[in-house]
Amino acid sequence: MSGEKEEKLEKIRVRIAPAPTGLFHIGTARTALFNYLFAKKHQGKFILRIEDTDKERSKLEFEKDILQGLKYLGIEMDEKLYRQSERSDIYEKYIKKLLEQDNAYHCFCLKEELEAQKQEQLSRGKPPKYNGKCRNLSKKEIKENLKQEKSFVIRFKTPNEKIIFNDLIRGHVEFDSNLIGDIVIAKNLSTPLYNLAVVIDDFEMKISHIIRGEDHISNTPKQILLQRALGFPELKYAHLPLILGPDRTKLSKRHGATAVSEYQKQGYLAEALINFIALLGWNPGTEKEIFSMRALIKEFSLERVQKGGAVFNAKRLDWLNGFYIRQKSPEKLTELCIPYLLEAELLAPIERQKEIIKGLHELPFKTTGYKILETEEIINFDFLKKIVSIYQERLKKLSEISELTDFFFKDKLEYDKELLRWKEMSDDEIKNSLKKSEEIISKINTQDFNKENLKNILMAEAEIIGDRGKLLWPLRAALSGKKASATPFEIAEILGKQKTLKRLGQAKEIVSRK
Ligand code: GLU
Repeated sequence: MSGEKEEKLEKIRVRIAPAPTGLFHIGTARTALFNYLFAKKHQGKFILRIEDTDKERSKLEFEKDILQGLKYLGIEMDEKLYRQSERSDIYEKYIKKLLEQDNAYHCFCLKEELEAQKQEQLSRGKPPKYNGKCRNLSKKEIKENLKQEKSFVIRFKTPNEKIIFNDLIRGHVEFDSNLIGDIVIAKNLSTPLYNLAVVIDDFEMKISHIIRGEDHISNTPKQILLQRALGFPELKYAHLPLILGPDRTKLSKRHGATAVSEYQKQGYLAEALINFIALLGWNPGTEKEIFSMRALIKEFSLERVQKGGAVFNAKRLDWLNGFYIRQKSPEKLTELCIPYLLEAELLAPIERQKEIIKGLHELPFKTTGYKILETEEIINFDFLKKIVSIYQERLKKLSEISELTDFFFKDKLEYDKELLRWKEMSDDEIKNSLKKSEEIISKINTQDFNKENLKNILMAEAEIIGDRGKLLWPLRAALSGKKASATPFEIAEILGKQKTLKRLGQAKEIVSRK
């Protein structure tokens, strides 16, 4: 749409305004990202405003979760954090103004009264709307009621006019204010409700564009009318499509994790999540699927945001995460995986053996090595790097690392002897196969004990047998205790000759069990 292009000269200032009433949601993260990209693309500013006027539901822990989530995603704000709870004085000024201008009035209707009114309207099949009882109270009546300390709210005298705006994503949008009725805009002189607070804040913070979820589109006419009453300039709007689950209903916990922190915990890389949420509603117009933050800033435009709902495809997220995992250097990937190994209590840092740090993704300590908790062996970073490296190709999320590699940190593996069986092999055949591997491996010198050599020698033998699985399957199963793992050559190199032979011995024992 041309709107966006025309605005290029004006100062772009955008914001997200989450309420800290729950964990930082993936939908809010998408809104944050689109605002951020739009701001960065146009050398504008991205602002974070915490909408914490609902005192009962707002919690500091959720505010922290929002900040932590933004930090993890690499979405930086350009100004200090604003909290609505700290802005009562500002609001009071405007609430008074609306009252003085006769754009708003005190309403003393009782809750029960309003509820009865609503039920009556619903029973007639009418949408509920305030009947305007207190709209024309005289100054004297109001004064009297206030003197008697009757409880009240402040309502907006919603004018009867058509509201039309050009949404940068949805195009022409039209509302009839008649359907809105006199909405409550404040609880008292200093506590505005959502619609009014937003209008005041967006004006005070010189916001130029409001980019937010489509679920807010019905609030937009209310906000436009309030802007007009307060003499504020009109803003540009862009309402982002809903995020849907695979069943095309609004994304919710039923579909899986919705909190950004949950994805972080599971080991999704920020790059993957950013790439993924950028494509939730934005279409680059090409086949390209991989976008770094920098590329997104360059290529993003509201014109390419779709109107229809954006389906959350978890498989695509996994695929992207795998892609970004493979892009990491082995060092970096190992650093990223270590917290998960610590959390699974397979390892402990030498300096801090007792303290298991849960759910962290950057190591908050320096350590010269790690202790394997089960065997008490001391290992170093390079050893862990070897282990992580052989799983770099198949890792989809970091949290999988402990389950994939736990057998490296165990003394004895426990498994059912069936695991050792390749096809129809008998117990004796398995035992002989294990013995064969033992024989071959014991002949390899420790200094030549690497995956290339192991592969060459064992493969040659496997070829002679014909069905390679007859030699390699029992060997791999004996070393890993798992149905699927890295190759026996890679595993054996890391375990070393002695442990490799020990595991073959254990496997022989398991296969001899009744
Ligand atoms: N507090 C609202 C929310 O979290 C903000 C909506 C807006 O951007 O105006 O959805």
